[in-house]
Amino acid sequence: MNRKKIVAGNWKMNTSFPEAIKLAKEIMAAQTNDEVIKIFFPPHIFLHEVTEQVKQKTLFFTGAQNCSEFEKGAYTGEISATMINSIGCKYVLVGHSERRLYFNENAHQLKSKIEQALKHNLHVVFCFGEQLSERKSNLHVETVNRQLTEVLENFNGEQLNNIILAYEPVWAIGTGETASPQQAQEMHANVRDCIEKLFGSSIASNISILYGGSCNPANAKELFACKDVDGGLIGGASLKADDFCKIINSF
Ligand code: PEP
Repeated sequence: MNRKKIVAGNWKMNTSFPEAIKLAKEIMAAQTNDEVIKIFFPPHIFLHEVTEQVKQKTLFFTGAQNCSEFEKGAYTGEISATMINSIGCKYVLVGHSERRLYFNENAHQLKSKIEQALKHNLHVVFCFGEQLSERKSNLHVETVNRQLTEVLENFNGEQLNNIILAYEPVWAIGTGETASPQQAQEMHANVRDCIEKLFGSSIASNISILYGGSCNPANAKELFACKDVDGGLIGGASLKADDFCKIINSF
């Protein structure tokens, strides 16, 4: 996939069924920048219906917030990549810090999830980012490069075409604290360098790198103006149609 402008909303474990449909419909009905790919990540249980909604409008897509590392079988409560693909959903989030922290997902599992996703024709949004303690000890670059390398070195350049990256400093997620545009640009440039070392300059310049962490209508413009920031993965602000549309229109 060539470098694209993308704004994605991670709804996490929020919304009732009617609220999810209303949110999707309100955003799709608004006037939004048609150079931007928009992706909704609703809770799994609403994914089918929200996917039916987005099929009616170009540049709108859905993604699953997680997928199983396994192909199929006796894994109660899990949802496979092939199931996600079978309803017309195109994306999946892998490696979100909440999954790493609360569900102890490790690099081996993240690699298996990405393998499953790519095998079943899903695009992956791969998340990574440092903790506050790592930034304070000046270990943020090292941490991010490790998170990228330990998972992505298992894939080839062609597979990287179907992976979008999302830098999400954990200290900025849901805290109201955002990375400054300088901090975001510095890290995004580092991420592109790291990808270049692993896969070469063509893959590195084509890969989309999103910023996530308390992005909102007040700070999106400055963040999206950074040379290596290709859009945002939005949590809290994606639950308000008006805010999400303003963020999309910040390009
Ligand atoms: C997220 O969880 O991906 C996120 C960026 O959340 P928030 O925008 O609420 O910080």
